Amino acid sequence: MSIDAAGNLRAVRRGVGNAPRLVIGSHLDTVIHAGAFDGVLGVVMGVALFEAVLEALPFSIELIGFSEEEGVRFGVPFLGSCAVTGDLDETTIVLISGAIREFGLDPAELPLTRLRGPIAGYLEFHIEQGPVLEQLGLPVGIVEAIAGQSRLEVRFEGHAGHAGTTPPHLRRDALAGAAEWIIAVERTMKDTPGLVATVGRITAEPGASNVIAGAVTASLDIRHASDQARRGAAQRLAAAAEAIARARGLRVCMETRSDRPATPMDPGFTALMEDAVRAAGYPPHRMPSGAGHDAMILAPHVPTAMLFVQSSGGLSHCPEESVREEDVAAALACGAEFLRILERRHG
Ligand SMILES: [Zn+2]
Repeated sequence: MSIDAAGNLRAVRRGVGNAPRLVIGSHLDTVIHAGAFDGVLGVVMGVALFEAVLEALPFSIELIGFSEEEGVRFGVPFLGSCAVTGDLDETTIVLISGAIREFGLDPAELPLTRLRGPIAGYLEFHIEQGPVLEQLGLPVGIVEAIAGQSRLEVRFEGHAGHAGTTPPHLRRDALAGAAEWIIAVERTMKDTPGLVATVGRITAEPGASNVIAGAVTASLDIRHASDQARRGAAQRLAAAAEAIARARGLRVCMETRSDRPATPMDPGFTALMEDAVRAAGYPPHRMPSGAGHDAMILAPHVPTAMLFVQSSGGLSHCPEESVREEDVAAALACGAEFLRILERRHG
């Protein structure tokens, strides 16, 4: 085992042949007040597969425990996986160089962390972090695509006024307008299959209990596995905000803070995972991932597949995060079948 310059833990199980190697990985870091399974379960499952498959394989397996997937320390996620794909930009390298040096590693060696040689693909196991598999009563799910995500900021502007002396017909209440729009966001989500849309933060100004809100800023997070569906929803929500503002005598402006396209998993590798899940005796359920994962950094570079393990109660990023032993065993059985199918391909 070794640690590369980006702080990724890496190990290789040598195969008997020189067929392109398989990379298995997930992340080692997590958020503050997190659970014990996000990321690290995928790494431990890679170790378990190393040990479970006793026969020599015609290909090597490289296991990577990625560093800094969550972006907690520097506000930039996927540092470890971006290092191995060569996607770290100069600004980020400057930002993290001090921390790399403090850890006893050499930022000048970052280029050496790059994946080299022929690679068959990348496989990631990860907890679902949502309630879908539990509701369906399934141990595992096959990720088809990692949803694209737009983050926007919406600002409604009206007129602040005295809560006691301003009659209803003279009010231009920015908070009531924002509230109407938030309900429209929820309705759009319910009417659009596969869409999730969230207003998670609002700020009212001046923010006093006896003053009509003169301005409100709200966040909007929308995600969908189809970029077209996501952008269409963003347009409909912008139109709704304008209509609501017009009817209430408010001004509205909407600013896109980030727009990240969806990342499809590799169709061939995903079909192989589907065969593996079936061979292990489980129904192959395909689903999108609403959260980002290292797999989305690897996917543009090497064929990538991802398997979700049921999370109890759909809880994640909290100490209650949990998995059932039998679901982990099911996912491992699927992983072992995946290796066997890959082996037969080279046989
Ligand atoms: Zn994770």
